[in-house]
Amino acid sequence: MQSPAPPSSPYDAYVDFQCSSSELVIYAPSVGQIVTIAWPLNSSSDPITPTGIRHWLRIRGLHWPCFCASTVDTSVSSRIVVYASTSYVYALCHKQQFGCGFEINLTGILASSVLHSAYGHLPTIRSENAPFMADSLANFFLRAPNVTAPYFEGYCSEHCIDYPDVHQLSGDSLCIFPFKRAVSHKPSAAKTTVIRWKRTTFLETRLESVEDLNSASAAATSAQAMSSSAVAA
Ligand SMILES: [Zn+2]
Repeated sequence: MQSPAPPSSPYDAYVDFQCSSSELVIYAPSVGQIVTIAWPLNSSSDPITPTGIRHWLRIRGLHWPCFCASTVDTSVSSRIVVYASTSYVYALCHKQQFGCGFEINLTGILASSVLHSAYGHLPTIRSENAPFMADSLANFFLRAPNVTAPYFEGYCSEHCIDYPDVHQLSGDSLCIFPFKRAVSHKPSAAKTTVIRWKRTTFLETRLESVEDLNSASAAATSAQAMSSSAVAA
């Protein structure tokens, strides 16, 4: 007897897309949708390290919203943590359990992402210069991309000017990896990925899933060919 499917979540589509993307995907309250953003670079045009992301965001008054922000009339910061056994850095939903399912392996995304930006228009708070987002917002709405999670050029996250009570959250090192996606979301291609995620890494998981799909496809093709041969005989 099959066990009942977990209830669906308003965040399922967001989680599925984030899980399948090789780039940073977050929710952007500024435009009311999930978007793809570029990985930040330092003044030498080198990528900020995953362990340095939290500090890079905080000194600019920025925070990466999790998908919970899509169901409330404000922004909600994700939580950046380190997974102790691998030293991999993750951005998770701010809730410890039963959250929205927001989950980015920052170590993996740094390796796979091709979108990078120095975000020179997002200065540190200490500089006392204001961020300049007008052009980025205007360009985004001008293009009005009708795709899921369009690239929001120039946007890195929400700013404390708009949300003075929201700051980039962080947490202690995790000894046990949270696998809330597997228990809080409906069955889907992404769920298969997540189940394997419990015992391996994000990128390795994705490769496993591709292999699984390829194997299944090859098996189906083989079975179909055998069936055709039998009919022909
Ligand atoms: Zn959340």
